[in-house]
Amino acid sequence: MIKLTKAQKKKLRQLFFLFSVTMLSAVFISFTIYGIIRITHPADQNGAEETFCFADYQAERPAVKKKLLSKNKNSRPAIPLRQVNGIVIHYTANPGTDAMANRNYFESRKNCPDKAKYKVSSHYIVGLKGDIVQCIPEDEIAYASNERNEDTISIECCHPSKDGKFTEQTYQALLSLAAYLCVKYEIPKDSIIRHYDVTGKDCPRYYVAHPDEWERLKDDVFASMKKKQSLAVLSELHR
Ligand SMILES: [Zn+2]
Repeated sequence: MIKLTKAQKKKLRQLFFLFSVTMLSAVFISFTIYGIIRITHPADQNGAEETFCFADYQAERPAVKKKLLSKNKNSRPAIPLRQVNGIVIHYTANPGTDAMANRNYFESRKNCPDKAKYKVSSHYIVGLKGDIVQCIPEDEIAYASNERNEDTISIECCHPSKDGKFTEQTYQALLSLAAYLCVKYEIPKDSIIRHYDVTGKDCPRYYVAHPDEWERLKDDVFASMKKKQSLAVLSELHR
């Protein structure tokens, strides 16, 4: 064993003390820097955006009145819609009119000449009191959203006034219908679009004028979905 002199022992203690203080300071400084980063960059706390798995969610089909249009060249061309890649939201641009009146307007197009200007329809219409009318089956195209007719489902919404703002009942029914369709076809939030996003048309007017409200609407659609029960047995029972 090496025998140390008193002076050497003292030196050793000093070195040990210095080493401990340095290490503790390093740990303290690291924690402080980490804390500052977490406070100044709160977004980093979430890391990558949370992934959304449609298989974990469900949304019941809302009550829908099925009043399909007669097959005709102008409003129900009976062209297959093979792949649903999005939902397009519209407003009727006809203040105060209800779902059936708009549905009947689409139906009346069958008596018009076979011309582009008479081609108009929509898969669904949400009424002023939240009633939903289906005009076209989901596996056929509607004439609503121009170049996106071939891969989207269209929803027209009624509105009481010119500004195009939906009633609370219309809004709530739209949320449940859109949530149901998003889960069914696994449509991501960014694929819920306005007619405006396709052609630049002022439709749906209120949500073109209020982009923040539009973002809220899409968030509300996804917030209205329900997380599935974890027990697979439950889904078996519901079959
Ligand atoms: Zn439109």
